[in-house]
Amino acid sequence: MNYNPTMNNSEALVVFSGGQDSTTCLYWAKAHFNEVRALTFIYGQKHVKEVECARSIADKAGVRLDVMEVPLIGSLARNSLTDSTLPMDRQQHGTDVPNTFVPGRNLFFLSIAAVRARELGINHIVAGVSQTDFSGYPDCRDAFIKSLNVTLDLAMDSQFVLHTPLMWLDKAETWRLADTLGVMDIVRNETLTCYNGIIGDGCGDCPACRLRREGLEKYLEEKYGKER
Ligand code: ZN
Repeated sequence: MNYNPTMNNSEALVVFSGGQDSTTCLYWAKAHFNEVRALTFIYGQKHVKEVECARSIADKAGVRLDVMEVPLIGSLARNSLTDSTLPMDRQQHGTDVPNTFVPGRNLFFLSIAAVRARELGINHIVAGVSQTDFSGYPDCRDAFIKSLNVTLDLAMDSQFVLHTPLMWLDKAETWRLADTLGVMDIVRNETLTCYNGIIGDGCGDCPACRLRREGLEKYLEEKYGKER
């Protein structure tokens, strides 16, 4: 990653859920900026344990965390992350997005983060979205992030920089980045990615766990070989 070293003289705000991706981004931000803050959203997700994870990881990282309640975002459209009566899609069906997609979530989160960042005098915003393993979610794509960056600048007459260090990484490469940053154990044991709300390696069976586990196995195999 060839980021301008002058970036080190500034501050970043990380959109932080306490999952694998945003935790890796939190530590990436700590390696690239002098000051890091984090913002977690409670949007009606079934597993509020995410927020406890986010608090404990931010504490350990020495990062100030703000938690914002935005339940409206999870209630606007039916999805299986906020509606416990809707069985979760286990995979994408054709070109339809899976019902774990919360429409507009990243649009709202990043817009709120930008308003907050502006208020704090911060230009740099970090989000753990990835086009490579984007699970069919359109708001994880690079074109959306670039477009939103322009829109946010125009909306607030600001010069935000939206950083997405995972955009072109697959899950194995995201594990490698965590390892390079020296936080493999924290990411493996203390983050919550599982759609069934189980910390660390998770239930092992939901789509988020499968993606995470396959990435981990691929990375460990690359690192240690098949004989580990
Ligand atoms: Zn799971």
